[in-house]
Amino acid sequence: MNSARRAVSAARGRKSSVLLARANAVNAKLGIDASVIRKRKLPLYADAQSLVVVEIGKRRRRHRLTPPAARAWKRMKAAAHKDGIGLAIVSAYRGFDRQVAIIRRKIAEGQGIRRILAYSAPPGYSEHHTGCAVDIGTEGCDELEEIFELSAAFAWLRKHASKYGYFMSYPRGNKYGYRYEPWHWMYRKR
Ligand SMILES: [Zn+2]
Repeated sequence: MNSARRAVSAARGRKSSVLLARANAVNAKLGIDASVIRKRKLPLYADAQSLVVVEIGKRRRRHRLTPPAARAWKRMKAAAHKDGIGLAIVSAYRGFDRQVAIIRRKIAEGQGIRRILAYSAPPGYSEHHTGCAVDIGTEGCDELEEIFELSAAFAWLRKHASKYGYFMSYPRGNKYGYRYEPWHWMYRKR
């Protein structure tokens, strides 16, 4: 490694240890033990720095992705449309602070941490922080429900999404301990 590269890599290391310290502190406050996160081997993700609005959703929500993930999403959506399949974003980028708010709301509703973490990532650990993850919906199908796997949209994604760099993150029995999420896909091309 040359010295410039070493400097970049050291800076990255510092950045990720700052993020880890912040995530640990916030999660401890929420009652989420660091050992639970370690045990599930959840990767830490920084909030995306560069985002573009890719789609306007329900209640005029502006869904944002990184520029490469957004370009790939648009290409994939157009290809699906040609095949008579409608794809829509239910949720895309969500930052660290938004994730804190989501977990806080669930705690306030009286849900236990174990149940919350089967459905939601601890702050700092959501793929949605990266601006590369999308929750996908399709007309006539309940959002964020397992029944999405029976939709024509899901069948289409299974067959074609990888061509656009999108992959399903949480299949049944996934190693991270999340419930099965057939609607959650992440752009993984570099
Ligand atoms: Zn998701």
